[in-house]
Amino acid sequence: MIPLRTFHIHIKGIVQGVGFRPFIYKLFISHKLKGWVNNTTDGVHIQFNTTKEFSNNILHIIREKSPKLAVITSIFLEEVSFSKYSDFKIIQSTFHERTTQLLTPDYAMCENCSKELNAKENKRYQYPFITCTNCGPRFSIIRSLPYDRITTTMDNFVMCDSCNKEYENPMDRRYFSQTNSCPECAIELSLYENGELQGNFTDLDYIVKQWQKGKIVAIKGIGGYILTCDATNADVINRLRKLKNRPTKPLALLYHDIYELAEDVEMGIGEKIELEEPSSPIVLLNIKKDRMTPIALDEIAPNLNHIGVMMPYTPLYKLLLDKFKKPIVATSGNISNSTIIYQDKKAIKELSKIADLILLNNRQIVVPQDDSVVCYSFIKYYRTVIRRSRGLAPSYINPDLILPKSSVLAMGSMLKSSFTLLNHQNIYISQYLGNTENFEAENNYKNTLSHFEDLFQPKLDIVLIDKHPNYFTTIFGKEIADRKNIRSIEIQHHKAHFFAVLGENALFNSKDKILGVVWDGTGLGDDGNIWGGEFFTYQQGKTERIHHVDEFPFILGDKMPKEPRISAFVMTSHMENNKIVKDKFSKTEWQIYQTLVNKTPLKSTSIGRLFDAVASIILNVDMQTYEGEAAMQLESAAHRYFRTNNFTKFYSYLKSNDIPKNFVEYLIKNIISDIGKGYEKDFIAAKFHISLAHYISIVAGQIQAKKVTFSGGVFQNQLLIELLISFMDDDFELYFHKELPPNDENISFGQLMYYIYNQD
Ligand SMILES: [Zn+2]
Ligand SMILES: [Zn+2]
Repeated sequence: MIPLRTFHIHIKGIVQGVGFRPFIYKLFISHKLKGWVNNTTDGVHIQFNTTKEFSNNILHIIREKSPKLAVITSIFLEEVSFSKYSDFKIIQSTFHERTTQLLTPDYAMCENCSKELNAKENKRYQYPFITCTNCGPRFSIIRSLPYDRITTTMDNFVMCDSCNKEYENPMDRRYFSQTNSCPECAIELSLYENGELQGNFTDLDYIVKQWQKGKIVAIKGIGGYILTCDATNADVINRLRKLKNRPTKPLALLYHDIYELAEDVEMGIGEKIELEEPSSPIVLLNIKKDRMTPIALDEIAPNLNHIGVMMPYTPLYKLLLDKFKKPIVATSGNISNSTIIYQDKKAIKELSKIADLILLNNRQIVVPQDDSVVCYSFIKYYRTVIRRSRGLAPSYINPDLILPKSSVLAMGSMLKSSFTLLNHQNIYISQYLGNTENFEAENNYKNTLSHFEDLFQPKLDIVLIDKHPNYFTTIFGKEIADRKNIRSIEIQHHKAHFFAVLGENALFNSKDKILGVVWDGTGLGDDGNIWGGEFFTYQQGKTERIHHVDEFPFILGDKMPKEPRISAFVMTSHMENNKIVKDKFSKTEWQIYQTLVNKTPLKSTSIGRLFDAVASIILNVDMQTYEGEAAMQLESAAHRYFRTNNFTKFYSYLKSNDIPKNFVEYLIKNIISDIGKGYEKDFIAAKFHISLAHYISIVAGQIQAKKVTFSGGVFQNQLLIELLISFMDDDFELYFHKELPPNDENISFGQLMYYIYNQD
């Protein structure tokens, strides 16, 4: 017999709260191995007796067979000094000084729990908080690390005997399931209605009846409260919009059934899978052409061709929707653009102004999160994350990046804020934290950051901030740096975007010249102007701004993005043929703005403003009530054109393969001329999109870059992505964002990448 030796395996990654220990336990028991497994703050440790050869086999099996939700980022096997074990044990979690583990996101109800929810004989039949080690809340309920019942908001709930048995049985699916509970030891619902709070509420039929009556119901979910109502009832949706102060921004839906959803929308296989993923995001889906859907489309997504849809990802939503049998509106519980409400007291105080009733429960939320948003382009099914939050945040895993040992905090941008923390060579990117112009979002940002500091206790070496001196994140970042007596470094907004997409695709070691097309709404440039139509190159550590669209005057600060007609004004006020724009202003307005244009030293190259101007000129979107409204309507118009016309025939405003000198001016002139010729709006919108893709392909060709990367909010536009692929895929390697949104949510990650990889 070969003598036994002792081996140690250390596994890092997302290995907590995903059924990893039971998996290891069952695996080792089945191979009759003896030793122990232990969960610590730096991952999972296993020590056991076996032969040299079999230690490698077991390593291989762990890699191949680990649970679906687990992500192994490193696994390390070594022989240690001999100790003899007589059985295989799970040792209780221990605290390790270096808090180096990744955090597990919140996951949608799994298939097994879904079956049990509907099984009459099961003890959790119709129990609205059924979970197991493969599903349920995680990140949203963690107070501290390591992930254990006492470090979560489940510590208030004492398990009944039967739950406790499951919890302690390594062969059970609920072994060490920290969210374990059942009707015996239940998480309780309560109902707030007409100023009264009714505890131990169980009558879900009552909620369904209220939807049928056209009532608005606020429900406490995973990342916070959502506001819900019947999605087929236009009146109640209008009432919700009014009370929520949200006139036109599209509202997300929760669908009761994926097959009925498939009747209403165009759904590819990628979108279907995405809807049923454990992350369960909102997926943007195009409404079928000429579809007579019962949902109140004009009220849900005014002037758009698509809707945002989720499937019921909690058992409570599932139970309610199975009874209602129709889709509901499910939008973040907040007023206007402020942060999602997640605390019960605040929900009663604020949401009772909107909702007719509020369905609460006594499981506390620690980390508020909005629903994530994902979409797919409509021909090549290219996946883009639009908002990264519940189910996707906060761990970021990219084994192709080589990371330094220092501890770095990157503060991000303003409008779609997030922060990135590099600590012990792990990257954490916070969930979407909202527009920090807003005081509540500011607080949410501060709270989330301080929660991360509590969890990981980083000893920060440096803070990275945007160049814009007035962003909250810049000011706050400097404050942190001062307090800790460390340096802060400014990083230009669009360079951060470029490095974010380079980083996600791990292109830093490439020897080729790489083109970065960074198009967005706003960001302070190195020359003090407002950039947003930028072309950079990256080659072996060196970055250069090689080209940008022609500059136009920037006036009126924040008013300009809110009123697309002002963008149209600054781009046409000097032109002869500008009556179509002139008609949008009074004589006095025109004169005042003309003076401002003549006086302002500030210039802009923002493609976001170009979209605004074109939407104003073609579609008369002169004011917008939410960021990106004009651009989204323009995309929808162009999309309508391609629905009825061949996608292979492209009309471009550009006639040759030379880069036009004044691209923006040239485009606007031609668009106005097309309107004069009486061309259809949708056609002109399509031609505008085609010309943008054509323009980028010309620039890429001229600078002779093989690899082309794209970042910035403009590349949330799925039609533009589709056109870029059509124009460029044969001649160039194209790189888009993968797990991060192309918009400003990626700035904090880009700042970190720039700090690590830029060598100027
Ligand atoms: Zn489950
Ligand atoms: Zn129980």
